[in-house]
Amino acid sequence: MDIMPKPEQFFLNIPLYKHFEIDEENYKDVLRVEFFKGTIDSFCVECKREGIFQRNIELPGVGPVSHNTRFDDVERWLQQTSAWFPSPEPDPRYPNALASESLQNYAFRNRIITVEFNCSRNQMHNLLFIFQVDGTKITKIGQYPSLADLQGNELRKYRPVLTAERFRELNRAVGLKAHGVGIGSFVYLRRIIEELIDEAHSEAVKDTEWDEELYSRSRVVEKIQLLAEWLPSFLVENRITYSILSKGIHSLNEQECLDYFDAVKVAIELILDEKIQQQERQKKITEASQNLGKITGEMK
Ligand SMILES: [Zn+2]
Repeated sequence: MDIMPKPEQFFLNIPLYKHFEIDEENYKDVLRVEFFKGTIDSFCVECKREGIFQRNIELPGVGPVSHNTRFDDVERWLQQTSAWFPSPEPDPRYPNALASESLQNYAFRNRIITVEFNCSRNQMHNLLFIFQVDGTKITKIGQYPSLADLQGNELRKYRPVLTAERFRELNRAVGLKAHGVGIGSFVYLRRIIEELIDEAHSEAVKDTEWDEELYSRSRVVEKIQLLAEWLPSFLVENRITYSILSKGIHSLNEQECLDYFDAVKVAIELILDEKIQQQERQKKITEASQNLGKITGEMK
């Protein structure tokens, strides 16, 4: 069973329907999610840019009912043993009745948790997360906007270094991961690396020193090595990324692929970041030499 994620990670990175076991050690993490107070950074699909989202809630009161204490700080509140929570079996005449219960018992109570954030630029822009606690596990069962919509936008900067089809597939990989599809997401990530290899290869064959015969009988990881001069260095140094993806597709199970997804995605981002830098550098070099040429022309 996986380690319970920190609240921010649970909201913004964990796919729906992934269960986390609640135990005596981590039950406070459930309360950290439910009673999250403060801000998180996330993409706002309405503002169409990164923003700060805020959640203001009142923490359940602590102490005697007549003069109970309100805590402002969640960590200090979590040091208390019990608090006034909604009654587990409320009398229909008093639907808002409270009952004193230990924090630990409450954390295990079967319930639906709704956590809503507002965009700091516009209160009407929301992030909504819904969790279910059932038996001894907590699961994120809903969210708006979807994980893919929140994360997909981080990917937009890679559009210039990918073909339209690969760019769609990169987004699809993230979308599949968000829906708990591991192996399928690996297929799309691998195609991105394959496209980079193909591109580099079509450059390499123009080189008079190039040994096409050696290349064609090499395995993919060896091909990456042969193409070192034409590929982003991160990919060459971390050729294992390709092996992990291939192994994922052929012999890992769904869960293993999901577990390794983030690490592989970061590797692909680094490879694409390098490609963006190369393009920018190339553009700068072209511009600079044009400008210098112009100056030289003027000086004559
Ligand atoms: Zn917004």
